[in-house]
Amino acid sequence: MIDSYRHKGLRKKLVDQLRQRGIRDEAVLTAIGAVPRHFFLDKAFEEHAYEDKPFPIGNQQTISQPYTVAYQSALLEVKKRDRILEIGTGSGYQAAILGAMGARVFTVERQEALHLKSKELLEKLGFTNIRCFFRDGTKGLAEFAPYDKIIVTAGAPVVPRPLKEQLAVGGILVIPVGEDVQYMYRITRVSETEFREEMLDAFRFVPFLEGVKKK
Ligand code: SAH
Repeated sequence: MIDSYRHKGLRKKLVDQLRQRGIRDEAVLTAIGAVPRHFFLDKAFEEHAYEDKPFPIGNQQTISQPYTVAYQSALLEVKKRDRILEIGTGSGYQAAILGAMGARVFTVERQEALHLKSKELLEKLGFTNIRCFFRDGTKGLAEFAPYDKIIVTAGAPVVPRPLKEQLAVGGILVIPVGEDVQYMYRITRVSETEFREEMLDAFRFVPFLEGVKKK
């Protein structure tokens, strides 16, 4: 795996584009400038890795568009050492961005093939602060709860109750909610019993599905 000057140059341009589109969180932009997105795509798409587009990653899934990754990451207001649960590891790129920002990441994937591939890649890239799990994310990941932040990267018809329960008080859950089109929700746990919900922009995600799929 080679990260050339050309790749670095393309990344810089991508960061400028994201800034123009309204991403203001400098820590997020720095992480996007640092993580080689082409490592997370099939060779066939390498040429396009720094375009602001989603791409197929196999198993009917896609790596999210960089704008979406930046948008969700900014909503999380990531602080170094934050404990973050991600539902939908996919390619591992979103986890790598959060890992590069210094968070302690727990990422869950329901498709074994994707889980195994991303786990190996993230280990190879030296992300000791990211742990990968092969699980059904509708249940969250109770054994490491509570989390300071939770991010869901698949479109959920409803907000699964365990995710709200596994959020620390003061914690933030970012989740796209809806059937065909999803609206980004940011849900803040204000106290043990109270949650504040903000409904934000529209996106299109692959579906959030129940159960796991073995290889
Ligand atoms: N964050 C990923 C985006 C992958 S697309 C990236 O950066 O590449 C969303 C992923 O969510 C898919 O891989 C899909 O298999 C997974 N997914 C869908 N429902 C899930 C569930 N219930 N639990 C865990 N993962 C799920």
